[in-house]
Amino acid sequence: RAKADGRGTYRFFETGMDARAQARRLLEMDLRAALQRNEFQPYYQPIREVASDRVVAFEALMRWNHPQRGLISPINFIPLSEETGLIIQLGELMLRGACADAATWPDNIGVAVNLSPVQFKNPNLIASVTEALEKSGLAARRLELEITESVLLQNSEATLTTLHELRAMGVRISLDDFGTGYSSLSYLRSFPFDKIKIDRSFVSELATRDDSVAIIRAVTGLGRSLGIVTTAEGVETDAQLELLRREGCTQAQGYLFSQPRPACDVAMMLDRPRLRVSA
Ligand code: C2E
Ligand code: MG
Ligand code: MG
Ligand code: MG
Repeated sequence: RAKADGRGTYRFFETGMDARAQARRLLEMDLRAALQRNEFQPYYQPIREVASDRVVAFEALMRWNHPQRGLISPINFIPLSEETGLIIQLGELMLRGACADAATWPDNIGVAVNLSPVQFKNPNLIASVTEALEKSGLAARRLELEITESVLLQNSEATLTTLHELRAMGVRISLDDFGTGYSSLSYLRSFPFDKIKIDRSFVSELATRDDSVAIIRAVTGLGRSLGIVTTAEGVETDAQLELLRREGCTQAQGYLFSQPRPACDVAMMLDRPRLRVSA
């Protein structure tokens, strides 16, 4: 049991709080301090058009550059940021940063930013997107917002209204990780998505499972019929890319082309078709 230092700094080590709760508490304090210290930055991973083999956009992926622990993946801190509400600040940082970076890229290159369901419940979302676009001067059509099905599960009228408002601004909306959640086809009817991102679990099993091929075929077909772009996530091999090409998948993203890298590497990623070395 840690002793209090008289100023209450170690109060959270009091007995009765289990190890898990302590770890969470520490992580939360660390996250708050990291926000103050500006330790978060977007990394960028290219998204390529399969037919032309050209980069058309970059997905912004949040990284925590921790002074001791090094680069930390969002899967390790997004859940707690969502529970504590810190995701609102983090999300705004990402939006502003990604729009500012993208404004310096060629005009035909877009940027995709992931949004948490928690951000959707925040009444300021439209204002933050508007501000990020205005401050950066980025054209709205170059911004894509990626949401997962869980946003639609909230299924409130408010969610749909927000999505329609964003789209009316000219921003494009993508449905991320398609195929992992409830994947109800009614989502595709309830809102006119611009893009479906096929989850990487289907792509990684393409070589070994015929049913994954069938699923890719079905989703790309659905996209074609509905006029929705399809993007395959997690493309790691040439064999996967060839299969996606054959099935008419519109875009591909994955380590085959590049891992996510810092903004200073974007020019290089635009110049060189493949950058498989680790970031
Ligand atoms: P996501 O949006 O589905 O992003 C794709 C994830 O797959 C990224 O993980 C990316 O680094 C990884 N990836 C890309 N290509 C490959 C590949 O070829 N093979 C494998 N094995 N993985 C690949 P990352 O960066 O760790 O992000 C994980 C998730 O965290 C994201 O999944 C997204 O849901 C969330 N996330 C990331 N940045 C943000 C953010 O700014 N805001 C919010 N709300 N969520 C974010
Ligand atoms: Mg995403
Ligand atoms: Mg995804
Ligand atoms: Mg994912």
